[in-house]
This record gives sequence, C-alpha cells and structure tokens, in this order.
Amino acid sequence: MQHTIKPPTNRIQISLENWVKTAIEKFGEDKKNWKFKCPSCGGVQSLADFIENNVSEPDGKFYFSCIGRWVKDRGCDWTLGGLLQIHNTEVVTDDGDTVPVFDFAELQV
Ligand SMILES: [Zn+2]
Repeated sequence: MQHTIKPPTNRIQISLENWVKTAIEKFGEDKKNWKFKCPSCGGVQSLADFIENNVSEPDGKFYFSCIGRWVKDRGCDWTLGGLLQIHNTEVVTDDGDTVPVFDFAELQV
C-alpha cells in the first residue's frame, strides 16, 4: 500500500517580483542581508553568512539549503532539493517555474 505525503495545505506561492519586494521591505535593498529560516532546524541564515564562510556559488543556496551543509557547527544538512518537501513558500518565476524557498526569518525586535 502506498502512502502519499501530502504537502502542507498552507503552502503559498508568490511571484518573484513580490518575493523580492517583500524581502526589501523586511531587510532592505542589500540581498546579502536578507534572512531566511531553515524549515528543518530553525536556524537563521543570510547570503552574508555564506560569503563569510566561503561557500561556493552562494547565490543559489542561501534561500534553498541550510548553511549547515557547508559550515561546521551550524544548522543542519537540509535542502529543498530533497525528496521530502516541508517548505511553505514557493516563488513563481517569470517563466512560470516554481522554486521552493525558505521562509523569511522574522526580525528580532
Ligand atoms: Zn537547517
């Protein structure tokens, strides 16, 4: 008997344009400061973290894979490229592709 893993029903899709707009509203124009939360370990990461730790090709990773995959003693090894999909947000590109992304981290007050 086969079991189907149902995706979370609260999954949202957002256009690339709106996603970028939201990020800028939350964190400012500098992409390096956009903060994302890993859905698996809850760790918060930014592109700046990836650059500081010399992770190669950080541009395609900082919103998609946990920094723990490359940096010791941080996060976990989660990636949205895996089989199990627990993300809540998908970005829809201009081409109509959907790209799973980590949720934005909430700002610490
Ligand atoms: Zn993680």
